[in-house]
Amino acid sequence: MKIAVAKEIEVGERRVALIPDMVARLVKAGLEIFVEAGAGEQSFFYDDAYEAAGAKIVADSAQLWGEADLLLKVAAPREEEIHKLREGSALVSFLNPLGNPVIVDRLAQRGITAFSMEMIPRTTKAQSMDALSSQAAIAGYKAVLLAAATAPKFFPMLTTAAGTIRPAKVLVMGAGVAGLQAIATARRLGAVVEAFDIRPAVKEEVQSLGAKFVEVKLDEETVAEGGYAREISEESKRRTQEVLSDTVAAADIVITTAQVPGKKAPRLITEEMFARMKPGAAIVDLAAEQGGNCAYTEAGKDIVRNGVTIVGPINLPASMPVHASQMYSKNIATFIQYMIKDNALNLDFSDEIIGSTCVAHGHEIRNSRVREALEVVGGKV
Ligand code: NAD
Repeated sequence: MKIAVAKEIEVGERRVALIPDMVARLVKAGLEIFVEAGAGEQSFFYDDAYEAAGAKIVADSAQLWGEADLLLKVAAPREEEIHKLREGSALVSFLNPLGNPVIVDRLAQRGITAFSMEMIPRTTKAQSMDALSSQAAIAGYKAVLLAAATAPKFFPMLTTAAGTIRPAKVLVMGAGVAGLQAIATARRLGAVVEAFDIRPAVKEEVQSLGAKFVEVKLDEETVAEGGYAREISEESKRRTQEVLSDTVAAADIVITTAQVPGKKAPRLITEEMFARMKPGAAIVDLAAEQGGNCAYTEAGKDIVRNGVTIVGPINLPASMPVHASQMYSKNIATFIQYMIKDNALNLDFSDEIIGSTCVAHGHEIRNSRVREALEVVGGKV
């Protein structure tokens, strides 16, 4: 079986699906790995390191894609890339299947067996394959560094001959994987941190990182299947906004990370809440690409409004490509090794990990939520 690593072509995508160390492990396990020339360059992993690890470098992109039995990628393929894949071959990548079901449809039409790294179940068994978590941790860390670089203030408390500096007040909204890493990073920089999430179960984790949990009692179930958040009612939204309005107004920095899978990001900072923020404050909105947690966020832009900076970063993990690639590489390698039996893909769809991750096979979209999302955008199923 020929396993190929593609060179990413998306603007700003600096990660690579496999790093040389992981190639060496897979080669040692008896797998044959082909790497597109220059695939790791943007993340500082060069062709000679891949060759030393036992990979074969392929300069011709069409040849690499066309001959691959299993192609590994980070970003979802573009239309013109899908055409390079051979019918009956397999692809493992981030695909954003609920946000961009058309890509899954194209892959299905082309007869590709497509696996979406977003669909790895959030279970203990699949923990080392969980690319959403590994990349979210990077985003949470980097969000705080962006905030610190944007803030016109120190984060830590300082006692100096020139006077005492009070620590910055950081509020983290959404305490999932990214939010918890943001809390830990802000604490390491010396800020006083508060955090909020609609899932009450995170309170202990927040507190164990040295942050204060802002509690809002809601009269509804906020947790859905798989431990994810549900979309909450208008009444619950009003209640959380009421409780959080003062905390947002007092914050120097707000990091927002709240998401509900398959939905537009919840609006956590309304126009009214924003109007009460202090000049010099900054918001880093990690949900910018999903519509933003703040009313004024624009994806890919830094905006200053009433003296408050709103940063709406896109693809933060790609801005730390060395460790992002290392972690993704571990996730994807563990997944394919789990799936490969006797040098072939074991397409046992009754297996929870394989079954839920495979979104297209045999010219069909395999996931009902992806089919529904495709109908919503007007595609045919
Ligand atoms: P996510 O990226 O989908 O969302 C980020 C956070 O936003 C979540 O904590 C969510 O509760 C919160 N949120 C949603 N709506 C909100 C609102 N209106 N107000 C405030 N906060 C809101 O989440 P994630 O980081 O990917 O993690 C989601 C779940 O998956 C968590 O339960 C996490 O513990 C679980 N998880 C489990 C594993 C595992 O068992 N292997 C691994 C990773 C994550």
